[in-house]
Amino acid sequence: MDNLIILGTGIAGCTAAIYAARANLNPLVISGPEDGGQLTLTTEVENFPGFPEGIKGTELVQLCKKQAERFGAKLEIDLVSEFNPINDGYELKLASGKNLQTKSVIIATGASARWLGLPSEKKYQGRGVSACATCDGAFYKGKEVGGIIVSN
Ligand SMILES: Cc1cc2nc3c(=O)[nH]c(=O)nc-3n(C[C@H](O)[C@H](O)[C@H](O)COP(=O)(O)OP(=O)(O)OC[C@H]3O[C@@H](n4cnc5c(N)ncnc54)[C@H](O)[C@@H]3O)c2cc1C
Repeated sequence: MDNLIILGTGIAGCTAAIYAARANLNPLVISGPEDGGQLTLTTEVENFPGFPEGIKGTELVQLCKKQAERFGAKLEIDLVSEFNPINDGYELKLASGKNLQTKSVIIATGASARWLGLPSEKKYQGRGVSACATCDGAFYKGKEVGGIIVSN
C-alpha cells in the first residue's frame, strides 16, 4: 500500500509532491490527461515569484517535477478513473487497468479553461488569445482589446 497518491502533475500537484517527498512520505504522482497541467498550454509566465524575466510555462512545470523527483517522488503517466474508500485508506482504479491502494490521497486535478471551440483559438493560444485575465491582462497594457484601449 502506498502512503500517499497525488492526482495531477500541475503546479499544485508538483508542489504537494515536493512537500510530501521532503517529509519522507514517498508520494506517487499520477499525471492525468494533461501531464504538467494548464501551464503547459501557455508560453510566457510572468507572475511566478523568483523569475524576474518570466519563464515558459512548460519549463516551470518541468523544473517543479524535477524538484519533486529529486526528493524521491515517483511520477507516472496514467489517469485515475475511480477511487473508493477501503478500511485503512483508498483503492484507486487507473485507466491503464492498474488498481492501487493508498493510505491518503491529495486531489490536485485543477480546472480547464472553457474555450469557445473556434479553430483560430488553438492557433493563437498564448499568442494573443488568453483564457486567464489575471494571468495575461498585463500583456495588453495600452493595446486595443475588443474595441477598448487597456489602461496603462
Ligand atoms: C492558456 C493559459 C495561460 C495561463 N497563464 C498563467 C500565467 O501566466 N500565470 C498564472 O499564474 N497562471 C496562469 N494560468 C492558470 C494556471 O495554469 C492554473 O492556475 C494552474 O495551472 C492551476 O494549477 P493546478 O495544479 O491546480 O491544476 P492544473 O494545472 O489544471 O493541473 C491539473 C492536473 O490534474 C490532472 N488530472 C485531471 N484529472 C485527473 C485524473 N482523473 N487523474 C489524475 N490526474 C488528473 C491533469 O492531467 C493535470 O496534470 C494559465 C492558464 C491557461 C489555460
